[in-house]
Amino acid sequence: MARIDDVFKQLELAYQPDNIYFQTIGSVLHAAETCALPEQLHLVLAQPKNEIMVHFPVMMDDGSYRLFKGYRVQHNNVLGPFKGGIRYHHDVSLDHVKALAAIMTMKCALVRLPYGGAKGAVRIDPRAHSAGEMMRMTRRFTTALGTNIGPDYDIPAPDVGTTSQHMAWMADTYMNLSDPHGRTRGLGVVTGKPIEFGGSHGRNKATGQGVVYVLEEIVPELGIPLETATFSLIGYGNVGSWTGRLLAQKGAKLKAVLDHTGAIHNERGIDAEALATHVEKTGGIAGFTGAEAITTQQFHTTKVDLYIPAALEQMIDQHTAKIIDCKVLVEAANAPVTPAGERVLIERGIEILPAILCNAGGVTVSYFEWKQNRQAETWDSDVVDDLLKKHMVFAARRTKLCAHKYECGMRTASYCAALDYIGRVYALRGIFP
Ligand code: NAD
Repeated sequence: MARIDDVFKQLELAYQPDNIYFQTIGSVLHAAETCALPEQLHLVLAQPKNEIMVHFPVMMDDGSYRLFKGYRVQHNNVLGPFKGGIRYHHDVSLDHVKALAAIMTMKCALVRLPYGGAKGAVRIDPRAHSAGEMMRMTRRFTTALGTNIGPDYDIPAPDVGTTSQHMAWMADTYMNLSDPHGRTRGLGVVTGKPIEFGGSHGRNKATGQGVVYVLEEIVPELGIPLETATFSLIGYGNVGSWTGRLLAQKGAKLKAVLDHTGAIHNERGIDAEALATHVEKTGGIAGFTGAEAITTQQFHTTKVDLYIPAALEQMIDQHTAKIIDCKVLVEAANAPVTPAGERVLIERGIEILPAILCNAGGVTVSYFEWKQNRQAETWDSDVVDDLLKKHMVFAARRTKLCAHKYECGMRTASYCAALDYIGRVYALRGIFP
């Protein structure tokens, strides 16, 4: 721990144990020590390269104006252009975005994509605005980012609160502001677009599909056959609902779900497809007739093989970690477990499969989309799935190898596998000049 403290001291940052940014960088630095990454790279990776903050006005439907705050944090681009999602959430902060950008650097390196890491956000509650207000806000945010994004420089994608529709507005705005003769190339400025407008087959389900490929590679070795496994989910948005549906297709049984509208349970199994249709129509799981409503406490204590957080960060603290009844915690969301929660889970012998491995499917198919845009091609969905599986399985194997080599848990192992690659590229490139 002494060396991690030294890094924060050199950067003149006062360590805050409950802050997600310090927690994330703390885990990265712990792995950097474990795999003996050169010391100057500890410093380089402990802070993002660029932190962009913008304020911009948007006209509301009633003719009034609101000023919004937006962020884009570009953590590292030694492997290639910055890459990472855009979040719309009323409670997002700069440290939040910094943590998520660093996670993207690690994730892209682990799955061997030619990308660095970034993340963006706007402080807004998307559910409180009309489609017209969201369109004007998205276009104005894209304009405010200006040349800080671009298909060869920084490529956003959807995240919590954003969809393919927001990406279509971002791409259209960027293309309209570009030189007309290079406009088509601007299509690759964002990924996660609708299929009709430069999107890729398989992108919508990609993160959930990636979770399933990782589980197929890892959990049978832990004595859990996927076909008979039971699981619970926090979040039934893009990642949660696709993970639920694809695991159910494999024969696994969804026993309980928690989202921002409540919690539900069915011991015989929840129909994952029917629940996805219900959420699509109503915006949440509350009121679903194929299960009974339960409390949040009952959700956490439901006995399952796989407990899968697929919602927001830091939802599993030390108190929740004490009552969860599962064999494996699968991080489909980014950073869902606090360090104190993680210590409790480890003490209780619960295996944690880390986010940078589990949810890397989204950015991987984003990379395929970007490649298709550059080559003016459309790939079939089975081509996308086969390539995705290869990336996910190799990333899972790299993580297992590092766990064995460094005799550490899967989180540290996944970071070591990423850092080892980043370290090799820095060794070849050097630090300019
Ligand atoms: P989403 O907006 O589609 O869904 C978010 C879900 O979280 C919803 O079901 C919502 O009800 C739930 N939620 C919000 N607040 C909650 C609360 N207080 N309690 C319980 N549930 C709550 O978002 P998403 O795209 O599915 O992203 C989920 C997570 O996965 C995030 O951590 C995101 O960064 C990560 N992720 C997403 C992708 C992607 O391709 N979309 C890729 C990699 C990682």
